[in-house]
Amino acid sequence: MQSFVQENPTRIWFGEGQIKQLQQELGSAGKRVLLVYGGGSIKANGVYKAVKEQLEHRQAEVFELSGVEPNPRLTTVNKGIEICRDKQIELILAVGGGSVIDCVKAISAGAYYEGDFWDIVTRQAVPTRAIPFGTVLTLAATGSEMNNISVITHWERNEKRGWSSRLAYPKFSILDPTYTHSVPMDQTVYGIVDMMSHVLEQYFHRTSNTTMIDRFMESVLLTVIEAAPMLLADLHNTDFRAAVMYAGTTAFNGLLSSGTDGGDWASHQIEHGLSAIYDIPHGGGLAILFPNWMQHCAEDDPSRMTKLAVNVFGIDSAGKTDYEIASEGILALRNFWNSLGAPSKLGDYGIDASRFDELVEKSFMKDKVGQYKIMTRETVKDILMRSLS
Ligand code: NAP
Ligand code: FE
Repeated sequence: MQSFVQENPTRIWFGEGQIKQLQQELGSAGKRVLLVYGGGSIKANGVYKAVKEQLEHRQAEVFELSGVEPNPRLTTVNKGIEICRDKQIELILAVGGGSVIDCVKAISAGAYYEGDFWDIVTRQAVPTRAIPFGTVLTLAATGSEMNNISVITHWERNEKRGWSSRLAYPKFSILDPTYTHSVPMDQTVYGIVDMMSHVLEQYFHRTSNTTMIDRFMESVLLTVIEAAPMLLADLHNTDFRAAVMYAGTTAFNGLLSSGTDGGDWASHQIEHGLSAIYDIPHGGGLAILFPNWMQHCAEDDPSRMTKLAVNVFGIDSAGKTDYEIASEGILALRNFWNSLGAPSKLGDYGIDASRFDELVEKSFMKDKVGQYKIMTRETVKDILMRSLS
């Protein structure tokens, strides 16, 4: 186990009806509030109305930014920054999924940065101050509601990049599983794949003596694997929505990398290139890439894949080599995602090999790709080739 610090300042209000806690949270904040949301799902499912009631009760002066796109864009961040400066916003409220929350993180830090916010995304500048913000989560997937990471797309450059800062933790997040009842089947599946991928990225570490944290990770995966099919058969079931929602938050709030080297994350880096060029859902891209990354790595060193196969997918190891056990586990993961209706090959999105060289370069936006296995341009291309069909 490695030395580590555990710190997470986000207060979580979890459960049905927790929206009423917004009163308490607003009580300690300023009254000039920027309400940020996406393409309108919160108006259709009643969440907008519930939030507005709380804001009115508090007599907040509310300004709005709507239309945050899935894979949020720098142009939208800039719109939010302008409103914050113009209206002297004191609190930002993100109501939506990971895209809305990531966009708000950028607006909150960008409002105090004089230059182009892309400087911060590309790590040429560091935020020094941010407007406080809270979230009302409507989609279980990213964990953004309890972490300090934000992923922004520069559409004109076809670049999608993550940045993080201690200033990017939400002050509070309200997690009411009934707010996710209206998430359609496909987005529910993408969310499940994304949260499982977050656990898997962290599971593929190379630190020894991590028994407890490995079991935490296996427990999150087992919980999602158990709940997901029941949820997809009953999208309005609050218990299954709650199980998946809490798993998604736990999957990526810092806890699961405690004492490890942090895990691999190459699949996420390669996926960001795919979303940046083809604007596909993040979870869909991960469902295609991740099992291929695992198979590629298992050919060198199957140890962690073998552990996953046995402890999570119940593969019988008797009389088999480590590689055979690992391969059966990877197939079980692929079959599980297929059974949920997730895509399994780039062809499912009409993507062929014509822009693979560009995709490889997009994966190398950071100096290093991967940790469990350090990737080269050739190995990234191999994973893309395996993902074609
Ligand atoms: P999302 O992009 O926020 O939302 C996807 C779609 O779901 C949108 O069309 C949205 O519609 C709809 N939706 C959300 N809540 C709904 C509800 N309750 N009922 C019906 N429809 C609803 O999805 P996401 O997977 O949460 O976020 C993806 C983004 O997060 C990607 O850019 C990804 O790279 C990033 N990400 C961030 C982190 C992190 O740690 N920060 C981690 C992984 C991924 P509306 O627009 O109409 O609301
Ligand atoms: Fe993700």
